[in-house]
Amino acid sequence: MMKAPLQILNSTFGYHEFRGPQAAVIEALVAGDDVLVLMPTGGGKSLCYQIPALVREGVGIVISPLIALMQDQVSALRELGVKAGFLNSTLSSQEWWQTESALQRGEIDLLYIAPERLIQPRTLELLHSLKISLFAIDEAHCVSQWGHDFRSDYLKLELLHREFPQVPRIALTATADLRTRDEIVARLQLHNAQQFISGFDRPNIQYRIAQKNNPKIQLMRFLREEQAGNSGIVYCMSRNKVEQIAEWLCSEGFTALPYHAGLAAQMRQQHQERFLREDNIIMVATIAFGMGIDKPDVRFVAHLDLPKSIEAYYQETGRAGRDGEAATTLLLYGLEDVVKLRQMMAQSEGSEEFKRNEQQRLNAMLGLCEITSCRRQSLLRYFGDNLAQNCGNCDCCLTPPQTWDATEAVQMALSCVYRTGQRFGAGHVIDVLRGSNNEKILSFNHHTLSTYGIGKQLSVDEWKAIIRQLVARGLLDVNSDGFGGLLLNESCRPYLRGEEKIHLRREIKLAVSSPRRANLSQAIDAQDQSLWSALRACRKRLAEEQGVPPYVIFHDATLREMLEFRPLTPEQLRTITGVGDSKLKRFGEEFLAVLREAEYSV
Ligand code: ADP
Ligand code: ZN
Repeated sequence: MMKAPLQILNSTFGYHEFRGPQAAVIEALVAGDDVLVLMPTGGGKSLCYQIPALVREGVGIVISPLIALMQDQVSALRELGVKAGFLNSTLSSQEWWQTESALQRGEIDLLYIAPERLIQPRTLELLHSLKISLFAIDEAHCVSQWGHDFRSDYLKLELLHREFPQVPRIALTATADLRTRDEIVARLQLHNAQQFISGFDRPNIQYRIAQKNNPKIQLMRFLREEQAGNSGIVYCMSRNKVEQIAEWLCSEGFTALPYHAGLAAQMRQQHQERFLREDNIIMVATIAFGMGIDKPDVRFVAHLDLPKSIEAYYQETGRAGRDGEAATTLLLYGLEDVVKLRQMMAQSEGSEEFKRNEQQRLNAMLGLCEITSCRRQSLLRYFGDNLAQNCGNCDCCLTPPQTWDATEAVQMALSCVYRTGQRFGAGHVIDVLRGSNNEKILSFNHHTLSTYGIGKQLSVDEWKAIIRQLVARGLLDVNSDGFGGLLLNESCRPYLRGEEKIHLRREIKLAVSSPRRANLSQAIDAQDQSLWSALRACRKRLAEEQGVPPYVIFHDATLREMLEFRPLTPEQLRTITGVGDSKLKRFGEEFLAVLREAEYSV
């Protein structure tokens, strides 16, 4: 008798219900239709093909470019009691042969394979000798020649349609733009596929963007007050800064590792491995880190420098919370970031058009930083997605920013930039406004200007915030000569003359921790802390014994439910999300022992 999808979901994966379009996708595939699935990261794409492969007769072939992950994916399935294997270049010829004969004996239900392997004649011959339940083409956007992840081998996957016309295919991606989607359909011959398109939103990610005023203290508070014991990534722009921050975090008692392209390959590998396998590592990295990292329990992503574009920001923050559990992202940015990036772009090698493009992307990113309405709405709108209501899970929603009528102050600032000859950076302009009498002011005779000292009522930080917002809004330009002088431009004219009103964001000092947090479910109560640690220690021990990352044993969500419901018998434990038959049998007693001890040692 064929098992029903829901039954497999429960007995094998330990989950109680399907999420979003999973049930419909699975139904289509089980019925033999082709399918295109577009779902955000963490949406649950894997089950869409894993369950049909278990329902249908034969072996399901999963094509994935991420060779480094195959071993872990297969280990995870085996822990669930699923007969899984993989074929890629990391296998010895003996392992290859063993997998091949297991396939021929019908002992494998799910086979992961790299695209370059699949298209080899020898592999195709092998596949033709087997009963195949389905082909799953993961990361299907790799067929797009315009995307960042283009793989020429993916183009050849079109042969699946010709050589195996009767086998249903499912293509999956998290990259949602229309052009890529059309390309996938055209290149993989999926014209008859049912399409399941979900939005871009990652509701479990909390977006926060704050003014950078003392980044180290801001980061420290964030880590200590909200993220104690969690894994996460801290992104910095330069290699130098990566090393400094990592070293400083270690001196503060955190386990932080540096990662950037200048480190020896072996060290990078080792740090990545530790990040995947250990529980509370902070990876301090340049953007070189992240591609193909599929760690589901990254609880936070912090940026100490401004990303170049919304695309980059969304991709980098997207590495948080792939397991669907609450995750937090924090971006700290300041005027110096804007100046630095503008200059880097102006001085880069590309054509004028390329530079204009880059500047526009940066402007969009700055716009996101400065808005006072819901960040998520604005993010999604940028990608062509609509969110009808405020999200309630970004800093603007949680602590609505105040604005103030800055018309007069803006007029002072612009006028001071003009009077000083449009040659000086923010620091000097602010000194003039506040009537400082340092050497530089005296030597340029700036104490005689009409704008000298007219802005004493505002602090240096307040002036910085004003100038930053003017640059971000494109009312002031930054000279690309390397000195960062501020320049007026056409659009600032009405403000300079005071003809138009302008409202700016009022900065709250050290606005790192939001007072109301939607993420409270993530925090562990003090009285539960020791049981939580004991459960995590048990998971870590088992993970080491099995040679797999901890999340392969149980996800955080599963441990959290154990904490909440305190199961004491195998029957009770089996009702916890993520505890299926196989894991109950293999690890149940170990976790029950921990839970019972906590229950009876009062
Ligand atoms: P994607 O590939 O879309 O990024 P995954 O397939 O890795 O996402 O799933 C993300 C997380 O959600 C995983 O931890 C997975 O076990 C979990 N998950 C998926 N479907 C369900 C479900 N129906 N119920 C509970 N958890 C689920
Ligand atoms: Zn919001």
